[in-house]
Amino acid sequence: MEKPIDGHVHLGYSIPAEEILNQMKISDVEKAVVFALPAEVGYDADMNSYVLSEAERTGVFIPFYYMLDDLKLPENIEKFRGIKWHWVRGAPHYRSNMKLLHEPRLIDLAQRLAELKLPVIMEEDLAFTKEFVRLADEVILIIPHLGLLGGSPREFLEAFKEYENVYFDTALAAKWDTEHFYREIGADRLIFGSDIPFGYMKSELAKVLTADIPEEDVKKITRENILKLTGLR
Ligand SMILES: [Zn+2]
Repeated sequence: MEKPIDGHVHLGYSIPAEEILNQMKISDVEKAVVFALPAEVGYDADMNSYVLSEAERTGVFIPFYYMLDDLKLPENIEKFRGIKWHWVRGAPHYRSNMKLLHEPRLIDLAQRLAELKLPVIMEEDLAFTKEFVRLADEVILIIPHLGLLGGSPREFLEAFKEYENVYFDTALAAKWDTEHFYREIGADRLIFGSDIPFGYMKSELAKVLTADIPEEDVKKITRENILKLTGLR
C-alpha cells in the first residue's frame, strides 16, 4: 500500500531532519512537506537554504520556501515546491498587515505564484485571506489547521467553501472538524498535516485515519492531494 505524506512539517535547528525522519518511520509516512520555523527565520533569513539542502540530502522532504518580509522570490525558486506564508509583516496569530494588500509588489508576486503553480500555505487572519483570494484568484492556497489559528474553522469554511483553488490542512485540528469539512466539501481539498514540532506526527495522522471518512477518500487526504498540488504526480 502507498504510504501517507505529511503536508505540514517545520524543519530547522530546533527540529532537525533526524527527528522528523524518526517520526516518519514511527508513523509509516513516506514523504513530508517541510519549511522553516517562524522563530528561526526571524534570526536567520537563510533558513530557506538550510531547508533546501536538507531536502536534497534526505530525498524524502518536499521543500517549501518560507516567504520573507521583502515579498520576493529567490532566484532558485524552481527548486521549491510551494510557499509557506506566515503573517507576513504582521503580528503572528494576532493581526495581519492589511496594508500589504495594497502593495503593487503583492500583485506581481501573486501572478508569478500562479504562473509557477506553487501552492501557498497561507496563515493570516480571515479578513486578509479573503481579500488575498479576491485579488489573486488563480493562486492555489492551503489554509493550515482548517483555519484554527487565523480565526475559526467554521468561518473559514463558510468563506471558501465554493472556491476550488482553496484547500485546507488538518494539522492540529479536531477530528470532528475534519469530519465536518469532509461532509461539506468532500476529500479533494483536504490535506493531512502534523505541524511538527507543535504536533506529533503519529497522533495527528491517527486523527485522519480513524475519522469517519471512507478509505478511498482518506487516501486522497493523506497522500494524493498534496502530490497533485506539488506537481509530484
Ligand atoms: Zn506550522
